[in-house]
Amino acid sequence: MIPYGRQDINEQDLQAVMEVLKSDFLTQGPKVPEFETQVAQKVGAKHALAVNSATSALHIACLALGLGEGDWLWTTPITFVASANCGRYCGAQVDFVDIDPITFNLSPKALAEKLTIAEAEGRLPKVVVVVHLCGQSCEMRDVHALSERYGFKVIEDASHAVGGKYLGEYIGNCRYSDITVFSFHPVKIITTAEGGMAVTNDDALAEKMHLFRSHGVTREPHLMTHEPDGPWYYQQVALGFNYRMTELQAALGSSQLTRLDRYVEQRNQLAQRYDEQLSSNGLIQTPSQQPGIVSARHLYVIRLELDEIKTSRKEVFEGLRRAGIGVNVHYIPVHTQPYYQDQGFKWGQYPNAERYYQEAISLPLYPQLTHDEQDFIVEQLRAQVTKHQG
Ligand SMILES: *Cc1c(COP(=O)(O)O)cnc(C)c1O
Repeated sequence: MIPYGRQDINEQDLQAVMEVLKSDFLTQGPKVPEFETQVAQKVGAKHALAVNSATSALHIACLALGLGEGDWLWTTPITFVASANCGRYCGAQVDFVDIDPITFNLSPKALAEKLTIAEAEGRLPKVVVVVHLCGQSCEMRDVHALSERYGFKVIEDASHAVGGKYLGEYIGNCRYSDITVFSFHPVKIITTAEGGMAVTNDDALAEKMHLFRSHGVTREPHLMTHEPDGPWYYQQVALGFNYRMTELQAALGSSQLTRLDRYVEQRNQLAQRYDEQLSSNGLIQTPSQQPGIVSARHLYVIRLELDEIKTSRKEVFEGLRRAGIGVNVHYIPVHTQPYYQDQGFKWGQYPNAERYYQEAISLPLYPQLTHDEQDFIVEQLRAQVTKHQG
């Protein structure tokens, strides 16, 4: 089976992890701060906090922004459930903003409309989580302008987008947001097995996230209620978690990071090859790339022209799987999940997201995907969508 995504592990990665295993520190040593500094420098952020997943990063980001009971978190329905769940972890209510049908990202226009209504009803969001779907940045200038006007905080869920650029700068410099979050799950752009990172330019937010990722415990005298009792002393000043990244993961991450730009380049070249081979086909819509944006190309999502083809998405999907192609669907709209339906959400509320879901298929895309494999995928896809076409 050709998977839809997979990690690339080389000799340098193995060496880096082996060295840690033989060293004094498996956790809480020098490798995590090293990796944090490297990511911060790479993306142009002041602070970076490594954690054990992007989900944990989203959680401590929301906590640092003060999200809690009685607050609202808004996000897009077309994302992984974690972008919404982080609001629920904090006891906040979650609501959704429909997507833009061209970029598949949260629509700034729909956001503006929803904010107008929410202001009148006195239920403006405290936090909006935007997701750079497939690795392509949202229109951050528009989101930022709205955040200034309505006073909400912005988290960029850049789980798909490390190494991508917005208006010539790396995603993660937080020019238009408060905090940006990356995922290092194996299917993402670079990996630490499990792992994530939150980056910010705000000293106070960084300090809070630092506390929340490790039990709310500090050894910093300036954060304590009184002078330390002695050199052994620490204080728990908040209710935190154990969300720490290990030294093994950080060493792997540092090693992977040296290949980030190359990975993004390879992904873009493969995506362009898909574009060229599929765009002439009126039965398939290839993903659009917006000017001023370099997508990290985590996913290559095509949409089927369901009015034109004489088969169904399910049939196409199953046909490709039978041919050994590990296609996938990203994502099932979060508001249609039973957990969120129990919160009162219904099918029909976000028509652009729901329509996208009916039509979308993610084709395999990862740096070592060969041209031969790609040609085979294109050929099989063509055969599937032209079935019964006469
Ligand atoms: C993968 C992903 C996450 C969660 O990442 P983990 O590191 O697995 O916790 C969150 N949001 C989006 C959009 C993702 O794709």
